[in-house]
Amino acid sequence: MTVPLLNLDEQNQKLEAALIEAFLKVLRSNRFILGEEVERFERFCSDVAGAEYGIGVGSGTDALIVALMALEIGPGDEVLCPSFTFFATAGSIVRVGAKPVFVDACPVCFNLNVSDARRKVTERTKAIIPVHLFGQSCDLNSVNALAKDHNLKVIEDCAQAIGAKNYSSSVGGMAEFGTFSFFPSKTLRGFGEGGMIVTSDSDLAHQARIIRNHGMDPKYYHYRMGGNFRIDALQAALLRTKGDYLDEYIEKRQSNAEYYQVELQKIPGIELANPNHCSCTEETLAEKDQPAITLPIAYEKYVHTWNQFTLRVHGGKRDLLKQWLVAHEIGCEVYYPVPMHLQPVFNELGPERANCPVSEILASECLSIPIYPELSQQQQALVIFAIAGFIQSLK
Ligand SMILES: *Cc1c(COP(=O)(O)O)cnc(C)c1O
Repeated sequence: MTVPLLNLDEQNQKLEAALIEAFLKVLRSNRFILGEEVERFERFCSDVAGAEYGIGVGSGTDALIVALMALEIGPGDEVLCPSFTFFATAGSIVRVGAKPVFVDACPVCFNLNVSDARRKVTERTKAIIPVHLFGQSCDLNSVNALAKDHNLKVIEDCAQAIGAKNYSSSVGGMAEFGTFSFFPSKTLRGFGEGGMIVTSDSDLAHQARIIRNHGMDPKYYHYRMGGNFRIDALQAALLRTKGDYLDEYIEKRQSNAEYYQVELQKIPGIELANPNHCSCTEETLAEKDQPAITLPIAYEKYVHTWNQFTLRVHGGKRDLLKQWLVAHEIGCEVYYPVPMHLQPVFNELGPERANCPVSEILASECLSIPIYPELSQQQQALVIFAIAGFIQSLK
C-alpha cells in the first residue's frame, strides 16, 4: 500500500527510546500486576476525561462490562445503545445478561438519534450507552436529559474519542461512567489490549475497582461477582509514555481532516455534510439531490478528534470506490458494514430490534480513508487524486 489505512511503525519508532525505558522500569520493579504504573496511567486518563477516578482494565470491552456490572445491570434490564457502532457496545450488554435495544443513527454525525432513543424507552430500560463514534461527541446533553427523565444510568463509550469535547466538557466525564480503549487502531494506540473506566462517583469507582479484581474486598473475601479485568502494568507504563503525545496526535488528525475537507470539496460532486440536517434530536430528514460523496463535519462547538474520516458514498457506489482505492494502493475500510440490529447473533432479540433505517443506509454508504497523525500531505494528495479520478470515472 502506498498509503496505508494505518501506520503503527512510524509513531512507535519515534518513541522507541522512551518506550524501552518505561519497559525496563517495570521489568526491574518486578511489579507486573496493578501498582504504581497502573495508577499513574489511571490518573492521566481521568485528567483527560475531566473525571475524578480512573480504573485500568484489560480492554475497551472489559471497561463496558465492568461499568455495567458496577451499575448492577443484568437479566430483565434493557439498555439502549446505537445500532451503528462496533459490536462490543452491544455485546457487553448481552454478556451481563441484559437486553440491548438498538437506537437509530444521525445521518450527519453518525451518532445515536436521541429522539429515537426516547421512543424506545420502556419500564425495563435501566441504562443507555451512547457512543462517540469516529472521534466526535454525540449530543450528550440530550442523552443526559433523557436519562434524567427516565432515571437511566449513562455509560459513555469513548473507545474512539479520547480527548474529544462536547462544548467545553471532555467526553467520558459527563456521565456515571466513561469507557476507553487503547486497541492499536484507536487514537491513543496501545501495544496490545488495554482499556480504562473513568467516573467521578467515589462509590462507583470503588465498585468498579473491586469487580476488576475478582470482586475481592478484602483479599480472598468475595461479597460480589467480579473477574480478572486488570490492565497489565507494562501496558499501562507504555501507554502513559505515549500519553504525552496525545494532544499532538489529535492536532495532526484535525489538520489532516481539514486538508481533506478543503481539497475534496473542490471536486464537483463532493460536498460537506449539512449540519442543519443533523437529526440527533429530531426526526430523520429526507435528503434530496445528494452529491456523489458527502464529507464528514466537525461541529463548531465540539472538539472532534478524527479517529476516523468517514465518507458517505451515495448512489450504491461505495463498494466501487473501495475497490478503486485498493487498486490505487490506498487503504480504506468500511466501519461498519452491518448494523447491530441486523447481526445474526442478535436474531433472538425479537422484531422491535429491526427499526433503524438510517443505520442501514450508513452501513451501505460509509467508507473510512487514512487519517492517522503520521500521514503526510503528499500521501493525502494521492488519496484526493484517486478520489477525483473515481468521480471522473462515474461520468
Ligand atoms: C474498539 C471499540 C470498543 C472495544 O474496545 P476493545 O479495546 O477492542 O475491547 C468498544 N466500543 C467501540 C465503539 C469501539 O470502537
